[in-house]
Amino acid sequence: MDYEAQRISMVEHQIKARGITDERLLDAFRKVERHLFIPGNSDHFAYSDGPMCIGEGQTISQPYIVALMLDLLMLKPNDIVMEIGTGSGYQTALLAELAQQVYSIERISSLAEKAEALLKKLWYTNIRIQQGDGTLGWISEIEDEKNILFDAIVVSAAAPSVPEGLLTQLKEGGRLVLPCGSKFVQDLICVKKENGKIKKENFGGCQFVPLIGEQGW
Ligand code: SAM
Repeated sequence: MDYEAQRISMVEHQIKARGITDERLLDAFRKVERHLFIPGNSDHFAYSDGPMCIGEGQTISQPYIVALMLDLLMLKPNDIVMEIGTGSGYQTALLAELAQQVYSIERISSLAEKAEALLKKLWYTNIRIQQGDGTLGWISEIEDEKNILFDAIVVSAAAPSVPEGLLTQLKEGGRLVLPCGSKFVQDLICVKKENGKIKKENFGGCQFVPLIGEQGW
């Protein structure tokens, strides 16, 4: 299978054709090998235009939706990012290509362990993965991380409302992207913290698995 050709076609026909033009972002999608993050029996569908199962009843999102969320984050190379819902680790790898340091939280320990092992094997050194409830934000005993603030936060599971715990860990000028709505259908929301105020913008309908936790479902 020529996965590289499939990846280039995915970027052209699924992502660029739908209006995402940031070359740094497109290059990350050309580079990260999505098929490595899909369970072995269906990896030949890895570059198809839709979500796929990754085990434990969870999914990896459609490539375009991942690209849209990352585009809304407007990442710069020196940004510190938090991701809620590591899942397969695919989006985590893309974040690691685009930002300086990635902190990712996954609720299901088997997924967190599998993603961590794969990302290590792929030589990513700027990713920290934690197993736990991401709705509460990054909780750590490490001194440097106790009051950590993020330039950008992305939530890859559907929340009933914006978790307060995440807003408090967002830097002034920071961006938080998340699907918000019911358990079955949501809107993609981009939240910006500007001069201490919260501004929300709606980028249309989407469907994600529920965010399960203290400040989720
Ligand atoms: N972005 C991931 C990828 O590239 O594979 C897919 C994420 S999947 C749509 C959503 C993930 O969020 C699931 O793995 C689920 O277990 C996780 N999740 C749900 N609630 C969570 C919570 N409170 N904290 C952390 N992870 C959570």
